[in-house]
Amino acid sequence: MNRIFDEEKGGRVLAIGAHPDDLEVGAGGLLARLSNEGADVAMAVVSIPNKPDERRAEARRAAELIGADLFMLYEDKPCRVEDIPMHELVRRLDQLVGDIRPDLVITHSAHDLHWDHSLVNRATVSALRRTPCDLLAYLSSPEMNAQSRSIGQCFADISTTMETKLQAIGSHTSQLSRLDLDSSRDLARAMGRISGYQYAEAYEVLRVRI
Ligand SMILES: [Zn+2]
Repeated sequence: MNRIFDEEKGGRVLAIGAHPDDLEVGAGGLLARLSNEGADVAMAVVSIPNKPDERRAEARRAAELIGADLFMLYEDKPCRVEDIPMHELVRRLDQLVGDIRPDLVITHSAHDLHWDHSLVNRATVSALRRTPCDLLAYLSSPEMNAQSRSIGQCFADISTTMETKLQAIGSHTSQLSRLDLDSSRDLARAMGRISGYQYAEAYEVLRVRI
């Protein structure tokens, strides 16, 4: 599975999250690692549910720590993903994919129990219908990570970027009562134990070019 990430050295990566902080929690370690390894990493946040100014600033700080460019797709007014017509969201993602031409896309899992998250998965898959790229899905809750029997799961070594991931999550100060940094570390350690790394993130492999 290392091949997927080796290929991205110098490549283009597009990661898509429904809300500010989703990407940091689910994929922050791998995104920071790919950036360190020379990939151009773009983080796209679909919606800001509340406190737009504050949350925009937090997301910017986190993206800087990760070494990624940040795209806020609907930042003008607070909204949820389900408020955006699906055809409109797919069109916006089409545009982003066309601009970035990613080699690897990372998005929410279809199995995510959060409605907004699963909508972003569906829109991403539709937007990539004509784009030949690798596609991974991140698992954004400990409960989902515990389902490690799922077919096609892989693990990314984030040992070198664990601290950056925690700093990036910690940038979302308005959300810290909800975000548990100790749990993020514990989860990465548990995923590392399964995969043989000090710290790891788990992903579903949705599409791979070999
Ligand atoms: Zn979310």
